Amino acid sequence: MIYIMPIEKKELLELVAQPQFKKNNGQILAGGSDLMVKIEHFGFKTGMIVDAKGIKSLRGIVKKDNVIKIGSLTTVSDLLESKLLAKNAPNLNQAAKNFAAVQIRNRSTIGGNICNASPAADLVPPLYALGAKLKLESVKGIRRVNIDKFFKGPGKTVLKPDEILSEISFNALPSSTFSRFYKLGQRESMAIAIVSLSVIFNSNENKFKDLRIALGAVAPTVIRAYKTERFLEGSIRSSELVEKAAIIAVNECSPITDVRGSADYRRLMVERLLAELLN
Ligand SMILES: Cc1cc2nc3c(=O)[nH]c(=O)nc-3n(C[C@H](O)[C@H](O)[C@H](O)COP(=O)(O)OP(=O)(O)OC[C@H]3O[C@@H](n4cnc5c(N)ncnc54)[C@H](O)[C@@H]3O)c2cc1C
Repeated sequence: MIYIMPIEKKELLELVAQPQFKKNNGQILAGGSDLMVKIEHFGFKTGMIVDAKGIKSLRGIVKKDNVIKIGSLTTVSDLLESKLLAKNAPNLNQAAKNFAAVQIRNRSTIGGNICNASPAADLVPPLYALGAKLKLESVKGIRRVNIDKFFKGPGKTVLKPDEILSEISFNALPSSTFSRFYKLGQRESMAIAIVSLSVIFNSNENKFKDLRIALGAVAPTVIRAYKTERFLEGSIRSSELVEKAAIIAVNECSPITDVRGSADYRRLMVERLLAELLN
């Protein structure tokens, strides 16, 4: 097993561009909380680990010209403690609060949560609702991808073997915005989401304005409920309308039955929880 720990982003990009990285099914290690579990318990094979967690330039949260930028190695604890996020993206801050326990939050990174591509990843629905953009870097250059174009299925993304996710960015939410994340698990903490939701809209108006709805764990990837958003956008808020919208949202999902819950239970929970959040 080859293990290398670069301390600069440039070194990391050069390492993942080497033919031996691809040949050895090389993996970037950020916090390791998904990768090490896959290696230890699920027989995942890799012959090369590039440990990125010492690269300081990839960690931190800043606001510039109303845009929030988060380095991919920023930990869930950093997200939780960030006053900037509590003010400008409360839904993401809430997702960090619901995330595992302190030991895991201290190791887990936002980049790892995204790149692992679980449809139940807690930080992803808030980022969908925020309309986040991902910065993907390689020695060849930079490309930017909207988060809803990044995932191809469970565990699958558009990331190329020589690319890294370096930064996540989105516009800061105006103070008049209602923004929430809700996770339904088998217990309050240390549980994988059965269903998760993130909702954002302008709360100044009596109409739904700038509405964004993201749903987790109810399809092969996290999804935006675009049909539901279009149905509600511009309409006067009422519980009757919300009930109709929640049924549209159910039809946008394609949940599976697994050990945590049946597909029918997931549909029912999307309907009930979305109605609750929108009301
Ligand atoms: C006990 C326990 C509890 C957990 N609880 C939760 C929970 O409540 N909610 C939740 O959503 N998840 C949970 N998880 C899953 C995990 O902690 C998260 O998904 C975490 O955010 C992964 O981040 P990491 O930095 O540890 O990723 P790693 O394991 O280091 O990496 C995950 C994958 O992403 C790739 N990768 C990482 N960073 C990059 C990058 N910058 N560019 C390209 N590829 C990259 C790695 O190569 C690897 O394939 C839990 C895990 C455990 C073990």
